Amino acid sequence: MKINFNQPHLTGKEAHYMYEAVFAGKLSGNGKFTKACQAWFEQRYGFRKCLLTSSGTDALEMCAMLCGLKPGDEVIVPSYTFVSTALAFLREGAKVVFADSMKRNPNLDAESLEALITPRTRVIVPVHYAGVACDMDAIMAVAEKHNLLVVEDAAQAIDSYYISHQSSVVSRQPLGGIGHLAAFSFHETKNITAGGEGGLLVVNDERFVRRAEIIWEKGTNRAEFFRGEVNKYGWVDMGSSFLPSEVNAAFLWAQLENIDDIQKKRKQLWETYYQRLQSLSEQGRFTLPDIPDYATNNAHMFYLVLPSLEARTGLLAYLKEHEVFAVFHYLSLHSSHYYHDKHDGRALPECDRYADCLVRLPLFYDLGTEDVNHICDLIEAYYR
Ligand SMILES: *Cc1c(COP(=O)(O)O)cnc(C)c1O
Repeated sequence: MKINFNQPHLTGKEAHYMYEAVFAGKLSGNGKFTKACQAWFEQRYGFRKCLLTSSGTDALEMCAMLCGLKPGDEVIVPSYTFVSTALAFLREGAKVVFADSMKRNPNLDAESLEALITPRTRVIVPVHYAGVACDMDAIMAVAEKHNLLVVEDAAQAIDSYYISHQSSVVSRQPLGGIGHLAAFSFHETKNITAGGEGGLLVVNDERFVRRAEIIWEKGTNRAEFFRGEVNKYGWVDMGSSFLPSEVNAAFLWAQLENIDDIQKKRKQLWETYYQRLQSLSEQGRFTLPDIPDYATNNAHMFYLVLPSLEARTGLLAYLKEHEVFAVFHYLSLHSSHYYHDKHDGRALPECDRYADCLVRLPLFYDLGTEDVNHICDLIEAYYR
C-alpha cells in the first residue's frame, strides 16, 4: 500500500464555484468570492481587516512593507521556519536576527527573546509551527515593553487558538488575531487551499488598514474609489499586485464552507497517530508533538522528534522501503547557503536538533484511519 506524504483535498464544490466565477464575467481580483472569503475570516475570527493574497509569501511581504523598515532595522525571526518568513523582511532591507526554538517544541523561545533585542530591533515574527501557538502573552509583553511590532506567521495556523491564562481569566484568541499583522497560507500542503497557491493578510492594528489596501492594489487608492469615498483614483504609495484572481477565491470559498468537516477529520487522524505511537514514545524512541496548555491543536501536522540524525535517517528509509512517504522539514536558515555569512555566528542548538531529528508523517483529509494504522504498524515493526 503506497501512501503519499500529502494529497490536496477537494470538497466537491470547487469546480462549481470556479465555473460561477468564470461565467460571471469578472475574473480579476476583489470580486464577489474574494469579498466573501475576506468577510468570512473577519466574522468567524474577529480579525479587523482581511485581504486575500496570491500566497502566504505575498502576505508576509505585505506585512514587511507595512512595518515601514529602514535599512539596518532588525527583525527577530525563528531560524526553524520556511524561507519566506525571513525573506519578506530581508527584501525590505532589514537585518534578520535568528532566534532559537524551544526545547519542548520548534516554536520561537520567548524566554531568550529579550537577549536578542537591540536599539535597532523593530519587529518580532513568531511562527506558529504545526499550527501550535507560540507563547503569545510572553511575546506580546516583550514587544510592548520595547515598542516593537509583532507579525504572526500563521501560515500553518488556520482555526487554531492561543489560550491566555492572564489575570485568572481564561480567554481564547484565534491565531493571526493577536499580533499587529499576520499572514496565512492556502498552499496545497496546508489544511485549506485556494487551488494550489493562496494566502491572507490580516490587519489587526487599525493604523495599517488604509495603507494595506493601497499596497494590495498596486500602490493606488482603487479600493476607496470603488467604495465611493474618492471620485478618482491614482498612484499614492508603494505597492504591488498582491491580490489573487476570483477563480482562486472561488476555489477557496468551497474549502472554507467545509472547514469544520476538514478539521474534524484531520484531528481524528492526528489523535489516532498520537494514541498508537504513545507507547513507543514512552520507551524513548522519539517524542510526540507538544501542545502546551496555552495552545490548541489544528492538526496541521503530525511529527516525531527522534534522538539523532542517524535514528531519523533509519526510520525514513524504512518507511520509504515500505512505500510510506514521510519527510523531514526545515533546514536551519541561519546556516543556509544564502544566510550563513550574514548570520552573527550564534549557535542555535535546538533549531539544529529539529532540522536533524524531526519527521513528518502523512496527514491529509483523504487518508483513512486504516492508512494511519498501517503506518503505525510499520513503525512498531521497525522498532521491534
Ligand atoms: C507555507 C508557509 C509559508 C509560505 O506560504 P506560501 O503560501 O507557500 O507562500 C510561510 N511560512 C510558513 C511557516 C509556512 O508553513
